[in-house]
Amino acid sequence: MKILITGGAGFVCSHLADKLYEKGHSLILLDNLLTGNIKNIEHLISNDNVEFLEHDVQNHIEISDDVEFIFHFASAASPIAYQENPVNTLKAGSIGTINTLGLAKVKKADYLLASTSEIYGDPEVSPQSENYWGNVNPNGERSMYDEAKRFAEAATATYSRTYNLNTKVVRIFNTYGSRMQLNDGRVVTNFIVQALKNEAITIYGDGSQTRSFSFVDDTVNGIIALMESNQNDVFNIGNPNEITINELATTIINLTNSNSNIINKNLPQDDPKQRRPDITKAKKLLNWEPVVKLEDGLSQTIDWVSSQL
Ligand code: UDP
Repeated sequence: MKILITGGAGFVCSHLADKLYEKGHSLILLDNLLTGNIKNIEHLISNDNVEFLEHDVQNHIEISDDVEFIFHFASAASPIAYQENPVNTLKAGSIGTINTLGLAKVKKADYLLASTSEIYGDPEVSPQSENYWGNVNPNGERSMYDEAKRFAEAATATYSRTYNLNTKVVRIFNTYGSRMQLNDGRVVTNFIVQALKNEAITIYGDGSQTRSFSFVDDTVNGIIALMESNQNDVFNIGNPNEITINELATTIINLTNSNSNIINKNLPQDDPKQRRPDITKAKKLLNWEPVVKLEDGLSQTIDWVSSQL
């Protein structure tokens, strides 16, 4: 297939592109390089059937070739990155989604939207299943991201119903692995960099908040399982192994044999207290579940981070 991936130079999409290329697809990787990095895809774009297009999805997208499948992933995605680029993030999720859906309509392409566990906000139920509607602060410091993604889901559902498009939505939970940005403030990379440098590990709040971390290979396999399925629906993709941020810090200190001590800093506004995917639906209908253990995924990530320092 000829596939367009917006956000193609980003952390998750560069791994997605690797797997789709291995499967023999032709790729157009579109990215404005705001938070994506051309280094992530340099090895791919030297191939004949992989094209890189530097473009911002908030502007009209012109593609002359046929496109059979569109992945819309373009957006800043870490709290620091989207708060540093608030209007671009808002537009990538809203106007960018409309532009890519419009393209899907014209090209008669199937469509897969990258949504996020953030659409559940600070959840009042745990684990979160796809039919939970969420608890989001519409004016909060994360709203340029989570409300834009909620709009993106609404836009996708509306285009699907109105124009009879095949659309799929993946709600991606915290994912880690190689090619993450080291300076975008995410907890896994922050802690690994701090531990490797024997600097203080910065825990925000008392560290009792939880997250469930999925290794990027598992996340990408889930996304491809959804793409290849006949399901035109919403799916959580993540790892249900829920841990506290304190436990994550201890695990990373142990894996790196670090001398780092721990300091506590203020908890950011609207930082969710818990997050854990219910993946029953993906297991049943996509025949997918994560297989990489946290220690194994973290060890691989630690090796990659140390090669970058
Ligand atoms: N966090 C932390 N120290 C850091 C960075 C993040 O304690 O140096 C916490 C953050 O407050 C949140 C969790 O780790 O509770 C995950 O943060 P991240 O930014 O990775 O992603 P989120 O799941 O909040 O979008």
